[in-house]
Amino acid sequence: MSDCIFCKIVAGDIPATKVYEDDDFVAFHDIRPIAPVHVLIIPKAHVDSLAHCEPEHQAMLGRMLLLAPKIAAEQGMTDGFKCGINTGRAGGQEVPHLHLHVFGHKA
Ligand code: 5GP
Ligand code: ZN
Repeated sequence: MSDCIFCKIVAGDIPATKVYEDDDFVAFHDIRPIAPVHVLIIPKAHVDSLAHCEPEHQAMLGRMLLLAPKIAAEQGMTDGFKCGINTGRAGGQEVPHLHLHVFGHKA
């Protein structure tokens, strides 16, 4: 989506401090971190939110979740971490492109 800030990060049109990238996902540091380490994992293919996911997104959602412990470990969060997916207005979602927050601190 041309007006989506996270699609622009995927396209390289907006800079981000990337910590991981593969064919389907990119992960980068949140611009306004609320934890010592705060990473966002996003699918490259635009999906508005978790509430917009369909059965066809099942594999993508599973792969996105499985990236969390991998990236958390790579970022030094070896003691544990928190994950969150804000969804919709009442869920506190500001950016309408599905993203998984990973919060923690270096052990
Ligand atoms: P939400 O509230 O939608 O779950 O979280 C969106 C997150 O994206 C927020 O934590 C916000 O700080 C982060 N964010 C918004 N715009 C940008 C940006 O341009 N670059 C980066 N790295 N993070 C962003
Ligand atoms: Zn998008």
